[in-house]
Amino acid sequence: MKNLKLIVRKYALQNAVQFEGRADKKAVMGKIVAELKKEGVSPREILSLVDDIVKEVNKLPYEDQLKELEKLAPELIKKEKKEKKVALPELPDAERGKVVTRFPPEPNGYLHIGHAKAAIIDHEYARMYDGKFILRFDDTNPENEDIIFYDAQREDLRWLGIEWDHEYNTSDNLGRHYQFALQLINQGNAYVCTCHPEEIRKNRFRGIECKCRKRDVDENKELWERMQSDLPQGKAILRLKGNMKSENTAMRDPTLFRIVEAEHPIHGDNYRVWPTYDFAGAVEDSIGGVTHPFRTKEYELRDEVYFYILDKLGLRKPYLMEFSRLDIEGMPVSKRLIKPLIEEGKVEGYDDIRLPTLRALKRRGIQPEAIKQFVLSQGISKVESKITFDQIEAINRKIIDPVAKRYFFVSNPVKVIVENAPEIEKDLKLHPTEDIGYRRIKTKNIFYISKDDANKYKVKDKVRLKDLYNIEITRVNNVIHSKFIGKELIPGVDKIQWVTDEHVETLILKPNPLFKNGKYNEKSLERIRGYAETAVKSVNIGGILQFERFGFVKIEKKEKEKIIGVFIHK
Ligand code: ATP
Ligand code: MG
Repeated sequence: MKNLKLIVRKYALQNAVQFEGRADKKAVMGKIVAELKKEGVSPREILSLVDDIVKEVNKLPYEDQLKELEKLAPELIKKEKKEKKVALPELPDAERGKVVTRFPPEPNGYLHIGHAKAAIIDHEYARMYDGKFILRFDDTNPENEDIIFYDAQREDLRWLGIEWDHEYNTSDNLGRHYQFALQLINQGNAYVCTCHPEEIRKNRFRGIECKCRKRDVDENKELWERMQSDLPQGKAILRLKGNMKSENTAMRDPTLFRIVEAEHPIHGDNYRVWPTYDFAGAVEDSIGGVTHPFRTKEYELRDEVYFYILDKLGLRKPYLMEFSRLDIEGMPVSKRLIKPLIEEGKVEGYDDIRLPTLRALKRRGIQPEAIKQFVLSQGISKVESKITFDQIEAINRKIIDPVAKRYFFVSNPVKVIVENAPEIEKDLKLHPTEDIGYRRIKTKNIFYISKDDANKYKVKDKVRLKDLYNIEITRVNNVIHSKFIGKELIPGVDKIQWVTDEHVETLILKPNPLFKNGKYNEKSLERIRGYAETAVKSVNIGGILQFERFGFVKIEKKEKEKIIGVFIHK
């Protein structure tokens, strides 16, 4: 029996490691029938054992599955090193075909990589369980929403490779929200508060009930009506009757509805009373049929409010889950932080390559697949930690490295004249290991190398012009004079990139961290000028290439005599 368990476990682990961390019971059965015969066991006898073990294995993170398999049966690990696929852990209380998740952006800005984290996790779980994924625009702050962002956010999600099964706007359900509000008022669970906002704040802080709390139902109903007709903004709110003495300050009679007189991009001035996030979020998750809503951890204290509201309304309670907010060193991963940067002109717009918006990342050559892999590798941990952007770059590099064509580029060019230079015409490979073709180069006696390289050498030094030949430096003034000293590789001699007299002027925009030690980094956008070999002219706009020893670059613009590119990463 012990032996049997081990066999099942081995194959369950193998199957899990092969399929993104999730073993399939049938597949595992299929693998072990042969071994079972040897043991004299019929498959029927072990169905439930396999079931149990598969479940156990599926609960483990991919990392642990792989580790255990390495220990237990290294021979079952596929030799060709598979790209490590990461999978999310199982959802609690989840049934195949019945899981419903949602991504609820507010259409008040362009999506950033933090939103991508939420959207990818929500979407991935729906797919993992053959469930349903809803895109819900949480558009209940008419002052902030803008019609352009509904489309912009849809576009950003599609770029990430996310499709949704259903879409709707929270604002379209306002009629129902009003009915629920009335229900709470009638039940004595909500009251209209007409105190001054400052007083409300103070009372909340001190845990003191105000006189409004004692209003009777009829009075509350009348004021609720008046909130919708003539009470001015800021003069009345609808509050939940929670517990003003609660340890959890979120429960101290939170606001459910407030008056907002701004025009809504879809509903115009049809409504002047709008639900808060506490109310709309809970109600929509419930009536929208969401089974597993995710929020960022900062809302944890508000969970009690969420369930309290649903409880009083007699509505179904979803399985609310939390993960940490994504935060990146030196980057503003929040609409609230991005907006002022744009308004103050510190960045050029929503797609400024220093920003973590999806538009900026796209412009910068970060692949949607890299974002997905990164998000899944981070998982749904609640531990708050700042990541560094180079973690995303490392994943992106693996994706673009095999397909990016290699060219020479020299920044801040310095002229090199070579005495006795042979004239050479030859083809150089576009990639050191992949078979993606050649570019033809022709050389005479004039070259340019980058200033950084030029500064390293002095008279009598030998260097190799990469893929060409060796030179020895003879004299240095504003140009470097040198002589040809042979084609054979000389061990220990530096190989440097070069371009010839025929080159194309190139400007590269390089993003650096926007913030350093919490302060705006004045040098966050570098402009690097240089020459690239002429073959680069044939790369399309949007094309990704690698300038050897410089970094990966995305071609952004091609002017008559100049190419403009964006630095992706080293
Ligand atoms: P912001 O600070 O950017 O304004 P937000 O939470 O107000 O963020 P929403 O449009 O309301 O923006 O967010 C939609 C969803 O995306 C929410 O479920 C939210 O929790 C999630 N989300 C937003 N920012 C992040 C982040 N940095 N990390 C993880 N999830 C995030
Ligand atoms: Mg929000």
